Amino acid sequence: MSSLSEIKGIGPKTEKQLNKIGIYTKEDLIEHYPFRYDVLKNSNIKDVPQDEKIIVDGKVETSPLVFHFKKGLNKLAFRLATTNGPVGVTIFNRAFLKNNLKQGTGIIVIGKYEKSKNTIIASDIKFGMLGNKEKIEPVYHVTTGLSQKNISTYINNALFTENKKILDHIPSYLLDKYNFSNKKTALSIIHNPPSIDKLKEAKIRLKYEELFTFMFKINYLKIMHNKENIGIERQNSKKDLDKIINKLPFQLTNDQKKALNEIIDDLNSNKKMNRLLQGDVGSGKTIVAILAMYYNALSGYQSALMAPTEILATQHFNNIKNLFKDINIEVALLTGSTTKKDKKIIYEQLKEGKIDIIIGTHALISEQVEYKKLGLVITDEQHRFGVNQRTYLKEKGLSPDVLYMSATPIPRTYALTIYGDMDVSSIKEMPKGRKPVKTYVKSDDNIKDVLTMMYDQLKNNHQIYVIAPLIEDNEDTDLTSIYNLKEKMILAFGNKYIIDLVHGKMPSAAKELVMSEFKQNRINILISTTVIEVGVDVPNATMIVIFDANRFGLSTLHQLRGRVGRNDLDSYCILVSNQDTERLKVMESTNDGFEISEADFKLRGSGDLFGTKQSGDMLFKIANIKSDYKILLQAKKDSLEYLEDIKYDNDELKITLLQEIKTD
Ligand code: ADP
Ligand code: MG
Repeated sequence: MSSLSEIKGIGPKTEKQLNKIGIYTKEDLIEHYPFRYDVLKNSNIKDVPQDEKIIVDGKVETSPLVFHFKKGLNKLAFRLATTNGPVGVTIFNRAFLKNNLKQGTGIIVIGKYEKSKNTIIASDIKFGMLGNKEKIEPVYHVTTGLSQKNISTYINNALFTENKKILDHIPSYLLDKYNFSNKKTALSIIHNPPSIDKLKEAKIRLKYEELFTFMFKINYLKIMHNKENIGIERQNSKKDLDKIINKLPFQLTNDQKKALNEIIDDLNSNKKMNRLLQGDVGSGKTIVAILAMYYNALSGYQSALMAPTEILATQHFNNIKNLFKDINIEVALLTGSTTKKDKKIIYEQLKEGKIDIIIGTHALISEQVEYKKLGLVITDEQHRFGVNQRTYLKEKGLSPDVLYMSATPIPRTYALTIYGDMDVSSIKEMPKGRKPVKTYVKSDDNIKDVLTMMYDQLKNNHQIYVIAPLIEDNEDTDLTSIYNLKEKMILAFGNKYIIDLVHGKMPSAAKELVMSEFKQNRINILISTTVIEVGVDVPNATMIVIFDANRFGLSTLHQLRGRVGRNDLDSYCILVSNQDTERLKVMESTNDGFEISEADFKLRGSGDLFGTKQSGDMLFKIANIKSDYKILLQAKKDSLEYLEDIKYDNDELKITLLQEIKTD
């Protein structure tokens, strides 16, 4: 790396300013890419309507006049000779330009055209002429005291006045293969684009280089990780699962089968599994997990399944119990509300290996639990736990295969694919017969409509979730509370239907009781906070009504909506809100978690969804993991081949890359 002070024109003061925008070395400087480009092209004055944007070149015809106003403001006015005749130019607060705007000087004026006065109110004046050509101008992030022009000059000085080699991170055989220019040419095009086409080519080449370098390192780390992490090899075969698969009340979808196969392959290989199972709400991830745990038990190992809430853990437990009722598999539930006495027994049995499958909240690994032969750990709705649990398990001296399940499709999946050395299985296909949930945004005034729609469902013996943001009314806000809603619902439906509520602050036993009553259709309307947001599965519930819907992010709303539409009945989601309806309408238009996540992403900005470390936008200088995903995949493949081919082991580039990993 070379220091900035070696570059022509950069003294200590400039160096400090460059540091402010994250530029410390020459390499940083030449890779300080424009964040956008302005295309300058002559407009034809005759065609430009009143007050529209205009770009026009010409020669200064009259010496500029300067007018001064109060508070130090000023105005500069002159006439410009253009190919389409003379035009007046006025620009504010650029009196300092007067001496440079001598008669006959060629300039480009950018501004608004006041047709009636044949005058341009200029926002910018650049020196030079455009003629018939277009000029593409890079626009950089700058800071006070550092102009666009300065940055551009320093970059070009760094690129052209020095003869030092610029290290190309693409091996030459790949440069040939893709017909890529060398690095210096690409950089020079990025900073001084001669044409849009050339610019596009150079961009792709630089993106590829960045992703190639990155993936080379990830691939290397992944290989090292696998070498260190010899996992359990299981000897059973997929056929052993058929007995139980045939007993399921439904056929697995192809995507479920594929995901299951990928998991079983991991379990059978000596490579330690570290896999994400991703699928939209309702796609049927749970059964895949259950089958994996069953397989693990057949091979003689214990499994732990962790859910983010007790409600969910209990639901999983009941499901599994039910599925395995005539099969000799021991399943236990361990949550915060398990009695001390029961806990003790469970701990004992886990240690002795008497329990095959343990279900619980994350206390399962954080508490002092000892296992006899823990072979598989599964976390449901992984995004709720946050941090990678592998490190945690390792610290406890455990090294099972690990499966994460999540319904949050992007950007986390993208992030995990490349940042984590994690494999991904996706369930894209919904179970047969599923219909999209019909979604409506309703204002408070339409509450009568909402009640009518609810009544239609109740009449058909279908159940309803009603969601509100608060547990109890609160003087500080007008937000709806579930206790308040309960009173209202009792007024509307109480004579005929059973209404109850559940929230996170209730004692666990009470929560469990309500959920089990709801599951058995002994409660018709369940009013709840977002505790039921993830995972809860009651197929006979066909409607969810969400009050103050504007209080929730789109992804949360999508999760909540995922509580219904779990069979082949028509299902409905009603979003009640007087505000923010534009955003909520996204929910009306799509049932696809991927699209919703994208929309959320756009509406809220990347900050919320990416953790700081995971920000694709920040990690790369020119590539974008989302829009350049295809390039990423190619770079991933190419870099692996390069890494593994011993023919290149003496390459200067390979040696450099491997060294960089150590210092990164
Ligand atoms: P999620 O992926 O959101 O966790 P679940 O695993 O809770 O989804 O599954 C949603 C519902 O679909 C459950 O009631 C489950 O029993 C059911 N289901 C799962 N797979 C299938 C399938 N292949 N065909 C029909 N129903 C299925
Ligand atoms: Mg689930």
